[in-house]
Amino acid sequence: MDTESFFIAEIAVLAPLPHCLSYLLPPSCLDGEVVGRRVQVPLGGRSAVGVVVAVSQKPAPDYALKSVTIFLDDGPVLTPQLLAFVRRAAAYYCHPFGLALKTALPSGLTQLKPPPVKQVTVYRTTEKSDRPRGHLQRDLLDWISDQGSVSLEQIRQQFAQPHAALKRLEEQQWLASCVATRHRDLFTGQAVVADSAPSLSEEQAAAVQAVADALTRGRFCPFLLQGVTGSGKTEVYLQSIACCLEQNRQALVLVPEIALTPQLVARFRARFEGAGRHIGVLHSGLSDGERHDVWRRINRDDIDIVIGARSAIFAPLMRLGMIVVDEEHDDSYKQGEGFRYQGRDLALLRGQMEQVPVLLGSATPSLTSFVRAREGQLQRLLLTRRVAERTLPAVELVELGGEELMPGALSPTLHAALEQTLQRGEQALLLLNRRGFSPYLLCRDCGTSFRCPNCDITLTWHRSRGLLRCHYCDYQQPPDETCSNCGGAALEPEGVGTEQLQQALQELFPAARIARMDRDTTQAKGAQQQLVERMANCEVDILVGTQMVAKGHDFSGVTLVGIIDADAALNFPDFRAAERSFALLAQVAGRAGRGERLGRVLVQTRTPDNAILHCAVSHDYQAFADQELPVRQLLDYPPYGYLVNLVLSGLNRQQVEEQAQWLAAALTPDTAVEILGPAPCPLFRLRNRYRMQILLKAPSRPPLRQLLNQLLRLAVRLPSQVRLAIDVDPVDMM
Ligand code: ADP
Ligand code: ZN
Repeated sequence: MDTESFFIAEIAVLAPLPHCLSYLLPPSCLDGEVVGRRVQVPLGGRSAVGVVVAVSQKPAPDYALKSVTIFLDDGPVLTPQLLAFVRRAAAYYCHPFGLALKTALPSGLTQLKPPPVKQVTVYRTTEKSDRPRGHLQRDLLDWISDQGSVSLEQIRQQFAQPHAALKRLEEQQWLASCVATRHRDLFTGQAVVADSAPSLSEEQAAAVQAVADALTRGRFCPFLLQGVTGSGKTEVYLQSIACCLEQNRQALVLVPEIALTPQLVARFRARFEGAGRHIGVLHSGLSDGERHDVWRRINRDDIDIVIGARSAIFAPLMRLGMIVVDEEHDDSYKQGEGFRYQGRDLALLRGQMEQVPVLLGSATPSLTSFVRAREGQLQRLLLTRRVAERTLPAVELVELGGEELMPGALSPTLHAALEQTLQRGEQALLLLNRRGFSPYLLCRDCGTSFRCPNCDITLTWHRSRGLLRCHYCDYQQPPDETCSNCGGAALEPEGVGTEQLQQALQELFPAARIARMDRDTTQAKGAQQQLVERMANCEVDILVGTQMVAKGHDFSGVTLVGIIDADAALNFPDFRAAERSFALLAQVAGRAGRGERLGRVLVQTRTPDNAILHCAVSHDYQAFADQELPVRQLLDYPPYGYLVNLVLSGLNRQQVEEQAQWLAAALTPDTAVEILGPAPCPLFRLRNRYRMQILLKAPSRPPLRQLLNQLLRLAVRLPSQVRLAIDVDPVDMM
């Protein structure tokens, strides 16, 4: 007797499930490529989205299998390689495969209904030979003729009130309009001037050659491009990518979110668009629809270079030729919630799986990459000099303590330097990594401060909005008139934030044009971009900001950089504090003197003897590494050891504490693994949840892996009210 055989699909449902599920595949579904396509499937009484991971032909199963409802796309949205990559990544970070896929896909593709596609009206000139009479009509016609076809939106950017003229031109058939689907792209309508590749310095040429050789070999080859700020790393990326495109392969460029400015994108467009190459940009400022469009264009093989923040590591490029990770040391490559992956590490994994070179670049490499390079696991490429013989700025420490500070926590030295800079008509950049007016509003009588009702943290005073705000959960309230503790009426701000610094500067230098760049001033779409442009056009004399100002900007008019409080970052309770501080100081100092004139950097500190500061002053990465690595080695911290942080949280404090005790005791590790804790997290309460942590530490990965497998088996026994977050290779342990 013939046993009827069935097609059974293994499907990763985008839901918190530990495994893929099997569904029957109707024969009608079987034409074309099936793996990597999205499907709708029934799941416990509702419908869910899943991705087909594998298909097999089997005899009829002896249990009832549900059937795939429908395919959601015409073709695969993920290649088999990409599926395998996400699967490995999910396993590494102990995250359910389906949820990892949900993170990897643009949100438009994780829902049953995709976001609507925009239709726009597009205008074109006709063949009509005579010319209209009105000036505006003629100008419009000429301009549209030059552009080929344009949308109403683009016309509006060029002409103040085009409607009447457009209507007339269309009526008289000088113009024809039609409705077209347009790909939403943040950068359409912005013209760029094509540039050509400059001839490279010897060091740059050697670096490009090394990458080109790796491209020719077509193998995984990881590089660390270490070059001081302004040494021409981006140029190395551009010319390496040119080699990659010549081989008919695509390039993926990851940059930290804040560094992903239109300036950077414009540099890539200027270099490659003239040659007919298409660039796709992925970042968090895109709407769901825009992100969906870029992804679809990549699916259709319409993109040669993807530039994006962390999540672009999942871009579905089919002919991937190389991956660049710029500012590879940047903490924003680590996702802090949900699927806690590290984009730079995943770049190395993807490069290895797809056998392509990976170029990590930084002026201040992460100690992990630095040690890997020293051990030969990464090939080091060095750029030791700035382009065009520009020197690195002189960095001076300004000791705080003796003299009285001026408003805005400015030392007299920094104040005088600002005065001189303004007199010379040059620009200054001030870093203060704390937004708001002041970090506390204190009662002068009893010292009580306002605290967040949901988190263990004080509320920051935002004076311009008249609100106290929690920087963790976004809780906000107006301040009470009197102290809740003693009834006193004298509530005073304590400590300085960017808002206060800006105000103090405006009072000290009334004629100066002062701007501020932090999360509060850059929330609106395009706001950060506007600030950058004003700064680049020298319409701002002093720019005040948080770490946002340190990243990647090339302001050639800046000759003075001031760091208001170098100690804040150094004293952060975290084993990476020194590494973070050194990188931040070096990066922000690197913003000075990028133009013709020499730069000066003033670092205000109460601990002028701090060794890390001295390394930063002398731009000495090697000295910093020599200083910091023995400390890490002594404590078995990365890069010499591996960490996994387990965070248990819940609304009931006692329950969380008990479950953390139980879990720590239930884990039976190999002797190589150390279990630290459970202990309350540094931020014990966050968004109303109590949080306990257990830190796992080991000198190598395998015993840690074994313990994680055991952990996953134990975790199902935790009560549903207690949430467990597993953070492999944690970066932030608050
Ligand atoms: P980094 O990425 O290391 O900060 P960039 O690549 O942005 O450095 O280079 C700094 C500046 O020098 C840019 O304005 C860039 O156009 C210019 N530049 C880079 N390489 C060269 C070169 N070989 N010749 C001339 N100018 C260069
Ligand atoms: Zn809060």
